[in-house]
Amino acid sequence: MSHIAYVNVRYLPHRDAVVHVEDRGYQFADGCYEVVAIKDGILVDEGLHLRRLHRSLDALEIVPPMSDAALKTVMGEVIRRNAVGEGFIYLQVTRGTAARDFAFPKAARPSLVMTARRRTLSDPRLLAEGVSVITIPDIRWARPDIKSIALLPNALGKEQAKRVGAYEAWQVDRDGNITEGTSSNAWIINADGDVITHPADHAILDGVTRQGLIHAMTEAGLKVIERPFSIAEAKAAREAMLTSSTNFVLSVVRIDDTVIGNGQPGHLAEKLGALYAAYAAAGGQDRS
Ligand code: PLP
Repeated sequence: MSHIAYVNVRYLPHRDAVVHVEDRGYQFADGCYEVVAIKDGILVDEGLHLRRLHRSLDALEIVPPMSDAALKTVMGEVIRRNAVGEGFIYLQVTRGTAARDFAFPKAARPSLVMTARRRTLSDPRLLAEGVSVITIPDIRWARPDIKSIALLPNALGKEQAKRVGAYEAWQVDRDGNITEGTSSNAWIINADGDVITHPADHAILDGVTRQGLIHAMTEAGLKVIERPFSIAEAKAAREAMLTSSTNFVLSVVRIDDTVIGNGQPGHLAEKLGALYAAYAAAGGQDRS
């Protein structure tokens, strides 16, 4: 079956799904995006993703391309046309097409594109074995909390990880603290059993999975400590894990050359993974 993309009001086969060369997303990375997991045909935490999309659009002063109700209809249609039961939808909004100029154009209409793909969200092998990460300097701009499509540092970091056989790169700020992965949030569990993740300030993207897991943990009476943690603390941790919409919760069993715990996914990370899986299977916290 051929993939169908949504491009500015039209549903098109992928080979025909193109935007203009002067789209500001292409020339300036002037846009933002969302990746939403689809489980059993249902979008996981669609409401939280739309809320974050609006936050990014507001921060970039891009006008929403359509109402939330219309966005939901298009997302549903893209999922239907691609027959995705499990996978994810990619949604991107740019400031639109205009003659190249750094300052905002007066009359551009935002571009909206969407694609959807089938994918197994919690890969059984990765769940069973855990993954390794490397640490790299966080060289991104000062607003990673905006889900901007300017992802070059993230792409460079992910490639660096891939070249040494690691799954992800954890980015480290100037104080030696781990902010987050290139496409996931970072978590550790220390010797006291404290579950720790970086606070959702300007230094990280507040992952919807991160928000969902915190919600599910709070509902289950489990505590999360949101504070920065150093590389040394991470390497001495009892367990470590990462979260994202396309991975849910994955154990991290190695950081650079340091094996975490006994090199196997830890018990608490597995428990939190199961907690999140149940939460996602129910659609997330605001089934809107
Ligand atoms: N941090 C970064 C930099 C990301 O790019 C992503 C996802 O792409 C995440 C965290 C995880 O966010 P979410 O859980 O919303 O997928």
